[in-house]
Amino acid sequence: MPYVADTIAHLNRTSPAQHEFYQACEEVLLSLRPLLDNDPKYRKYGIIDRIVEPERQIMFRVAWVDDRGQVQVNKGYRVQFNSALGPYKGGIRFHPSVNAGIIKFLGFEQIFKNALTGLAIGGGKGGSNFDPKGKSEQEIMRFCQAFMNELYRHVGATVDVPAGDIGVGAREIGYMYGQYKKLTGSYEGVLTGKGLKWGGSLGRKEATGYGTVYFADNMLRDIGESLEGKQCAVSGAGNVAIYTVEKLYHFGAKPITVSDSSGFVHDPAGIDLELLKQVKEVERTSLAEYAKRRGGVRFVPVSDYPAGRNLVWSVPCDAAFPSATQNELNGEDAKELLKNGCTLVAEGANMPSTQEAVEAFLAANILYGPGKAANAGGVATSQLEMAQNASMQQWTFEEVDSKLQRIMAGIYQSASETAREFGAERNLVLGANIAGFRKVADAMIEQGVV
Ligand code: NDP
Repeated sequence: MPYVADTIAHLNRTSPAQHEFYQACEEVLLSLRPLLDNDPKYRKYGIIDRIVEPERQIMFRVAWVDDRGQVQVNKGYRVQFNSALGPYKGGIRFHPSVNAGIIKFLGFEQIFKNALTGLAIGGGKGGSNFDPKGKSEQEIMRFCQAFMNELYRHVGATVDVPAGDIGVGAREIGYMYGQYKKLTGSYEGVLTGKGLKWGGSLGRKEATGYGTVYFADNMLRDIGESLEGKQCAVSGAGNVAIYTVEKLYHFGAKPITVSDSSGFVHDPAGIDLELLKQVKEVERTSLAEYAKRRGGVRFVPVSDYPAGRNLVWSVPCDAAFPSATQNELNGEDAKELLKNGCTLVAEGANMPSTQEAVEAFLAANILYGPGKAANAGGVATSQLEMAQNASMQQWTFEEVDSKLQRIMAGIYQSASETAREFGAERNLVLGANIAGFRKVADAMIEQGVV
């Protein structure tokens, strides 16, 4: 497949050292082969060359003053990747690992994810290498304000509408929104994930986790099974993981693990959701604290993990929900999950499985829901927040949740029907990539070379 190798070689030359971005591009491009072979129009118009190149990338200095009066400087990013289907939409991540390549991989994935929702949203992503851990409330506020001091000139309710991601929740969205309003004098839906009293949507906080479980339910129903009684391994202990745990209980499943940057907890009786929320959402502390208070559970610190392994995947389970971060599940982890009888993987995180892990899941023919399909409920509900803001309405939780369920069913249907169309039954990687790409590419062709 020369176009894949040529494109990746070109990206290596023109965008050096962006490994996660090459990984995401390669996965999509490999899936597109049957489409490109069948329909010559997708080879014309420079679609592949254009789609891997962001429309715009903004990098900026974020200077702020810490509690000791010292000046701190971080890097800020916003990648406006593709606006063929609507205003740029995608989260903002605050984590020390953030760099241009990570923001580009996330923005690239976002294009196809957003297309799959069927809603009018383009793809973008942003963030900073700022580490919120150990910062005071005042430092978080000053950083968010400093970040928005530059970002405000590039975003807008019909231009680019960021949301949260790792390290950015309702608190950070609030501080950024306040600063945007101060700078522009405009009260508009420029961010999603806002507080419920000032433009937020009911159900947005829960949407990514709930949506991932709805997606898993769709995969299972298609083969006449359900989540009822299934033992589920969940990674992460943040927004996506917590609401995955909550929804798994609604379906009668038993979530038995969660993890964070300090280690993982195995709680065979089932994760205590209220304690998890108290420790991670309210006190913002480590899972070691969960283990201490809960008693009778196993906490394994990261320092005990063998090199290159994530031990949360060594816990035997029927279904796995990776919900922490990229490349947190590698080929070895996948083999162990399969050996222990896992038959379903639904990705709440973005690109949590390495290419080797994805290949192992596809070769074993288990139910595998890739992130860009399975976790699209978050961005879909962000778009519902935009719709409520634009019409100055607030919908009920039930209204939002029933729309979310319909959207997740639609994404599953679109990915699985597309997989079948190309003779790759059950391969939702291929199905999701082709279904998303086709929508974006068709719009790009109709809008001309711009
Ligand atoms: P949060 O910051 O709320 O939670 C992230 C969790 O993962 C935390 O428990 C964190 O540990 C852990 N974590 C993060 N990085 C690492 C790492 N390198 N090693 C080990 N643990 C890690 O983020 P979200 O829950 O919002 O996001 C999780 C994933 O879901 C990301 O991949 C994100 O891109 C994706 N996603 C999020 C959406 C959303 O709506 N929020 C939408 C779609 C996808 P600790 O608590 O110690 O920091």
